[in-house]
Amino acid sequence: MEKRTFLYEGKAKRIYTTDDEDLVIIEYKDDATAFDGKKKGSIECKGIVNNRVSAVLFRRLEEHGIPTHMVKLVNGRQMLTKKLSIIPVEVVVRNKVAGSLAERLGLKEGTPLARPVLEFYYKSDELHDPMVNDYHILAMGWATAEQLEEMRTLAFRINQVLQPFFLERGLELVDFKLEFGLHKGRVILGDEISPDTCRLWDVSTGEKMDKDRFRRDLGKEREAYIEVLQRIEGGAQDV
Ligand code: UDP
Repeated sequence: MEKRTFLYEGKAKRIYTTDDEDLVIIEYKDDATAFDGKKKGSIECKGIVNNRVSAVLFRRLEEHGIPTHMVKLVNGRQMLTKKLSIIPVEVVVRNKVAGSLAERLGLKEGTPLARPVLEFYYKSDELHDPMVNDYHILAMGWATAEQLEEMRTLAFRINQVLQPFFLERGLELVDFKLEFGLHKGRVILGDEISPDTCRLWDVSTGEKMDKDRFRRDLGKEREAYIEVLQRIEGGAQDV
């Protein structure tokens, strides 16, 4: 699949069209941003890690009947995907209290939750991704009731597949963010699932193995990302 023309550049990815108008190529960059783009930096190899980690996780989800946009890896940094019309809502699933939930409710990070929590955020940097609920999503027409229900069902199923998968690799899946889109009328998982979009804590040391290392200036970002890749791919493949 030949890479064709440049279509769009986001904070962490570039998108290219292909010969097939239903397919695009996503190229993962090393650029890192946080706090709605106010903090900028770069983590060497991040693009490769996020692309390859996403590929392993998407494959695993597909095996469990969850539709994803992945067609195949093109190379270390690029993935061929189905072209989606993105639903402008981020879906966050939480298994433990961390990040914005800890702040909002005044709870200690790491507090267990009796059951997973699901939240929706409207995708808008200018508005700092405000939290929204079903009523907002339906009233604004961002998704239909059926699409909303499908996103919710898929998000919990994804959690059920990924939580044990990470645990077997010594990582606790604390929380994560998903994006869905429509392809030929069907709700499909898009974007990425990677240390940029998940909180992953090392089971034995409690160390943060994700983007919080960058957000909170904890150092050793590159080492943590590569460690996650190696555990997910199940060996010491080259990066
Ligand atoms: N997240 C993300 N993109 C965003 C906001 C959050 O990938 O724009 C992920 C984040 O990495 C974490 C989860 O969603 O795994 C929950 O994030 P939270 O609401 O705690 O926000 P944060 O404090 O990370 O901004």
